[in-house]
Amino acid sequence: MKGEPRVNILIVDDEESNLLALEVTLEALGQNVIRADSGEAALRQVLNQDFAVILLDVQMAGMNGIETATLIRERERSRHIPIIFLTGMVKTDEMMFKGYSAGAVDYLMKPILTDVLCAKVEVFIELAQARIRLQEQVEERTRAASEISKLNAELEQKNTALLERTAKLQETVTELESYSYSISHDMRAPLRAMQGYADILTQEACDGLTPEHQAYLKKISSGARRLDSLIQDILNYSRLSSGPLPLQPVDLDRLIRDIIEQYPGMQVADAAIRIEGELPPVRGNEASLTQCIANLLGNAIKFTPPDRKPEVAIRAEREGNDVVVWFADNGIGIAPRDLERIFGIFVKVHSPETYAGTGIGLSIVRKAAERMGGKIGVESELGKGSRFWLRLPRA
Ligand code: ADP
Repeated sequence: MKGEPRVNILIVDDEESNLLALEVTLEALGQNVIRADSGEAALRQVLNQDFAVILLDVQMAGMNGIETATLIRERERSRHIPIIFLTGMVKTDEMMFKGYSAGAVDYLMKPILTDVLCAKVEVFIELAQARIRLQEQVEERTRAASEISKLNAELEQKNTALLERTAKLQETVTELESYSYSISHDMRAPLRAMQGYADILTQEACDGLTPEHQAYLKKISSGARRLDSLIQDILNYSRLSSGPLPLQPVDLDRLIRDIIEQYPGMQVADAAIRIEGELPPVRGNEASLTQCIANLLGNAIKFTPPDRKPEVAIRAEREGNDVVVWFADNGIGIAPRDLERIFGIFVKVHSPETYAGTGIGLSIVRKAAERMGGKIGVESELGKGSRFWLRLPRA
């Protein structure tokens, strides 16, 4: 019984020699043996401590065993303690009845056989130890539960603080976005005036200017155009970031064919855009989807070496509840380290001298895809073309 808690055993007898004999016998069990030489002494003991079992002599002077057991049973604290009566008398039915109704669990006849006594007491020791272990487990669980509920409360507090901070941040972001939107918007008017006047000068007063001055005019014009397209991209991006984006079924096949036919930039000399198979309808926002596809197709045509005829293949596949549309080009390709980076705002991997652009196109595509419940990604190898994929929910 190593590692088990020690329990108390109460022995009650008014004869010193009997107490001593019991003590010696029980020593082998390795528990605390406590003596009481009368019924009163036994009652005092059960008042302040717990016992695994009480061995109680029936025939004692003064308060006898039966009376003592009755009083022990009457007290709340000691009610559960098992009592074994020790008696020198021959067991009669009447005596047995009295004993059992006073709360005895067993009888032992004197002279007491050591093995029998130890075997009986051992059962109660194990029972008490099991009860102590159970009690410890209950206490441990209660402690753990209260620790968990304390941690939960802390977590909840932190969560509330985080939610408040997020809401404040969101407010600031929205404010900044609407601020940058209105600045961008206001910048377009003077820019258009600059561009318009430069165009008029080019058309009407070009002959009176030196070739050097004509070149300056051209630079003003193309600079204004570049800035205008940058502002337009920023406006598109801000519009996507805030404001509602209603979603409805979109006929992808028709939309892509319209973009190829009507969108400026798709009719590049000898560019070949091919649709392979059927493109199933998707759920999205038609205006945002148009922008995404125009950006992806525009890039596919743009990022091709000058000596190569751009070829773009579009196909779609169903994946669960989604449609994945692939845009494969035969262009310059993208290095592995840039595959994720290119979707960031203002990221341009290739020199703007060779391939004009604002670096916003793909960030618009990503933002739009996310707001439509979709995703964008790319597979590519330098020099071997790129395969962009756009995943959208099926209509
Ligand atoms: P922009 O086209 O205005 O430069 P994007 O955001 O559309 O900006 O694209 C970011 C960068 O990703 C481009 O500058 C280019 O380096 C790279 N990229 C995008 N599409 C392709 C493509 N189809 N092939 C190769 N590189 C691409």
